[in-house]
Amino acid sequence: MKISLPERPDPVHVGKLLCIGRNYADHAAEMDRDVPEAPMVFLKPATALIRTGEAVRLPPQSQDVHHEVELVAVIGTRGKHIARDRALDHVAGYALGLDMTARDLQSAAKQRRHPWSVAKGFDTFAPLGPITSAANVQDPQDLSLRLSVNETVRQDASTSALMFPVRELVHYCSQIFTLMPGDLLFTGTPSGVGSVQDGDVLEAVGEGLEPLRVSVQRAE
Ligand code: MN
Repeated sequence: MKISLPERPDPVHVGKLLCIGRNYADHAAEMDRDVPEAPMVFLKPATALIRTGEAVRLPPQSQDVHHEVELVAVIGTRGKHIARDRALDHVAGYALGLDMTARDLQSAAKQRRHPWSVAKGFDTFAPLGPITSAANVQDPQDLSLRLSVNETVRQDASTSALMFPVRELVHYCSQIFTLMPGDLLFTGTPSGVGSVQDGDVLEAVGEGLEPLRVSVQRAE
């Protein structure tokens, strides 16, 4: 799967989907979890990606798929051990994203101390909106995010509440992984997560970002 990056002539392959858990205190509280001392990182496969206008498919293995609206930083420049004060230079743009989660499978995995790959990694579980050039986003640390299900607002927050800001996440992740153009960093979700059903329409909006709209359908 390829995506076009702002101010780049050729599309690039989507690489790693780096996702951050429990990065808003209010969401950690609703999940009855402690706030982590360092960013909690997990990965989704690139095959989970869909774009605005497409459909999230509810897999038969889960009876409880949740929406998690998130700010996504799109990496545009390769880097390892990226300094905090250079971190935002590696971000080509920003988009709205959804970290779709099979909450029942995630809860069972947590109990068994198993990884979250299945709960987070199904095809279509990473909807991504249109990418806005970083040059046109004044402050990624002060954007409103809102997620509606069938026009009812379920999540409404500001990225100013991120415990680990984008700069810190890029720095932190680059100590572990070489960041590549086309990598996507899902920065975590605020409170208000909840179930989606066959036929739902999800719409994410954010200040200065283009909306993300997907439908929800049972998998065939
Ligand atoms: Mn998430």
